[in-house]
Amino acid sequence: MRGNLEELVEQVRRKVADTAEAALRQAVSGMRTGEENLGQVERQVRDQTRPVGGVILEAALQTMGNGKERCHRPCACGGTMRYVSDRPKTLQTLFGAVELRRAYYHCSNCGSGDFPLDRALGVEGTSLTPATQEVVAWADAEMAYGRAAQFLERVMGLCLSKDTHETLSGDLGEAVQPKELERARAAWDALPPAEDFYISCDGVKVNTLDGWKEPKLGAVFRAARDEKGEPIRGPTRYVAHREEAEPFGQRLWQLAEALGMRRARRVAVLGDGAPWIWNLAHFYFPEGIQIVDFYHAAERLSELAKAFWGETASPAKRWLGSARSLLHQGKTSALLRALKRLTSPRKDLRDLRRKAVAYFTENRHRMRYDRFRKMGLFIGSGVVEAGCKSVVAHRFKQSGMRWSEKGFLNLLHLRLCILNGDWDAFARAHYPRVQNLPAAYF
Ligand SMILES: [Zn+2]
Repeated sequence: MRGNLEELVEQVRRKVADTAEAALRQAVSGMRTGEENLGQVERQVRDQTRPVGGVILEAALQTMGNGKERCHRPCACGGTMRYVSDRPKTLQTLFGAVELRRAYYHCSNCGSGDFPLDRALGVEGTSLTPATQEVVAWADAEMAYGRAAQFLERVMGLCLSKDTHETLSGDLGEAVQPKELERARAAWDALPPAEDFYISCDGVKVNTLDGWKEPKLGAVFRAARDEKGEPIRGPTRYVAHREEAEPFGQRLWQLAEALGMRRARRVAVLGDGAPWIWNLAHFYFPEGIQIVDFYHAAERLSELAKAFWGETASPAKRWLGSARSLLHQGKTSALLRALKRLTSPRKDLRDLRRKAVAYFTENRHRMRYDRFRKMGLFIGSGVVEAGCKSVVAHRFKQSGMRWSEKGFLNLLHLRLCILNGDWDAFARAHYPRVQNLPAAYF
């Protein structure tokens, strides 16, 4: 049986017109009583007209048919699937609930069931349409599950429980992971070879059910130089995971390779002074120019000055000013002499100074800032620090949050997918294209 498209269009036209008329009448009568402000009237119109989209979508879906092909189909187990009946399903769409009728098949050999239409629409095992899943995922990536649920209810009338949010975003976070590298490769593929290619990483503490853990975050970015030779940062991508330095180094290296590191003119590794970063740099990026982030190094000096003289004392300011300037000029020998001249009867302060001397000695070849600046390299980017805040802390370190390993990782990868601009590529591959099925009515 084939339907008539013109009849369907006419039915929809009538329903839409009726809805529009009812919404208008109610808005006007609300204004007559003078009891509502514009916001209330506006929300009412929105809520009343939202189902119009649902009517249109439902009618369009009807034209796909119910997914029934033949009465019998082969099953993956080797048995036969038999058509049982049409079963209804309520889809949660951007426009509210939409009803679907779809053919149900069952295999008596292995006991499995199948809804071909659900598979064709990408709603197998879920009542949320891909577009609804997207808004949920984006809200969850940005704010706590409970707040995301409240937010979507408020702004678009989508009422889902906190648990539904958590389950869906967890599943999507798992689904985004396998092709992360391919999407990264595709994203930068069309770019010309980079002049400078930076790799930067850091750790950030997150509270988990097993106590505080330190996931690692890496940033890979490109830079060119302006006419004065100053570096300008180009596209940036983040990678993060909770794992040891060794596998994380490999993850970072794979990403850098996928993004075209080999074609870059120069490679630089930027980090704070943490030894794991430099071990990783030696092993995975042996050609990379190693640079301790200037602001991290300067922060060490300022902590020292604060400890020795107190926050606002003018000797502290004088000492810090001169020490920072030595550091900026890459005069690490003079800086070390200045550090060694600091004396105190207090043992804790002497210990602090000793640690600082060790830090600046150990990293002195990574602090030739005069040379790096002449070469047109960034001496500190703030990119990875900003990433620790924006990628991790912002979402995962709100008060009272404690994460399970899986819950944290899945959401972290979902967030990376969105922040790296990969969501559309993911969704294109993840959700099937809609296409009339063989038994379509139209
Ligand atoms: Zn079977």
